[in-house]
Amino acid sequence: MTTVDETRAALAALLRPRDAREPVTVLGAGRDDLDAGRAYLVALADGGWAVPTWPLEYGGRDANPEEAAVVARELARFEQPDLYPFLVGIGVVGPTLLTCASKEQQSRWLPAIRSGAEIWCQLFSEPGAGSDLAGLATRAERDGDIWRVTGQKVWSSRAHYAKWGFLLARTDPTVPKHSGITAFAIDMQAPGVDIRPLRQMNGDAHFSEVFLEDAAVSDSDRIGDVGAGWNVTRTALANERGAVGAAGTGMGSPAERLLELCRDRAVDPVARDRVTSVHVMSEVNRLTTRRARDAAKAGTPGPEGSGAKLRGGELFKETARTALGLLGAAGSLDEGEWSTLFLTAPSISIRGGTDEIQRNIVGERVLGLPVEPRTDADRPWNELPH
Ligand SMILES: Cc1cc2nc3c(=O)[nH]c(=O)nc-3n(C[C@H](O)[C@H](O)[C@H](O)COP(=O)(O)OP(=O)(O)OC[C@H]3O[C@@H](n4cnc5c(N)ncnc54)[C@H](O)[C@@H]3O)c2cc1C
Repeated sequence: MTTVDETRAALAALLRPRDAREPVTVLGAGRDDLDAGRAYLVALADGGWAVPTWPLEYGGRDANPEEAAVVARELARFEQPDLYPFLVGIGVVGPTLLTCASKEQQSRWLPAIRSGAEIWCQLFSEPGAGSDLAGLATRAERDGDIWRVTGQKVWSSRAHYAKWGFLLARTDPTVPKHSGITAFAIDMQAPGVDIRPLRQMNGDAHFSEVFLEDAAVSDSDRIGDVGAGWNVTRTALANERGAVGAAGTGMGSPAERLLELCRDRAVDPVARDRVTSVHVMSEVNRLTTRRARDAAKAGTPGPEGSGAKLRGGELFKETARTALGLLGAAGSLDEGEWSTLFLTAPSISIRGGTDEIQRNIVGERVLGLPVEPRTDADRPWNELPH
């Protein structure tokens, strides 16, 4: 096992120490920088530091959760570019492939995810299927060794610079909705894939509508068995909640940066009290997330990830609100770091499953409350109203 000191020394040889005065960025807000993230992942690639829990053969370190937590803590001491463009690959697709894909697919895709050479996006949501993801309507029909895909996806983050799309499609409309879905990897540059970026309220155009018209996907790019896509989806969503809820989705911690902002100006006792509350929320979030991760030990994160996502979202929103309060009118008029974060923060309550859906999961799977009434789970998908 690598000790804390060995980890710190190894990282110090690769990275620059973090400067707390650097502007904070979260989930790519306000920028489109692929080069800095790629250079960082390349620097960490040989030691497997960016993906410590992955097996050695795919460029990880075979680390257990405790060792991975040490690596995460030590990485936070160093400068880290915003890894948003690479997060679907590293935080969602990679761990899902390790659980659900064939050995051949793992060897083909994981090394390029780890080094940032290939970016992935997630083609899950559709205009008529967001919270009710299992109701999705994009069709994949088999044609020999090829599947032909037709339909529309929406809110597909990073689609415009992704090499691969992690796609869910309906392969059998005659069975109940959860049973007729299959997961694929689709080449985003293939004929029949049309990507149209959408403008967000923070000014970014980081997500897109994706129109699929008879797009071909090889059967060798199918992930898991035909009709077993819902299991793949559950694994992916659990990994996504963990990734969004945890820190490390951008450069620095917004709550720490708020303390810096407070130090730089004379603030009244009420504002000081708010900043202290944010700091306490941040610490509670960090420790509770760590406790849940330790409890889950190895493997796919459990429903605790929903709690982490809820807390992380609220913390982000409160941090941005408090910062704009300190800055006054000027804070919302310029296009600086805090106004961008303020306009980005609400999206955390939607992306990766809304707050209401996370509360349903916590209610049903953590607290053991009665499940929501469902009338459509056992009826064939093509008999449901759309
Ligand atoms: C910034 C951003 C990035 C995104 N990136 C991606 C991406 O890369 N790939 C991708 O596939 N998707 C992505 N999404 C889509 C996201 O996952 C969906 O927006 C989300 O799941 C909600 O779906 P919806 O927008 O269709 O809302 P709906 O499902 O229509 O929900 C509307 C409202 O009803 C509530 N609601 C719905 N069902 C229930 C229920 N059963 N109980 C209680 N309340 C309920 C919801 O909480 C919400 O408030 C992204 C979204 C955002 C904002």
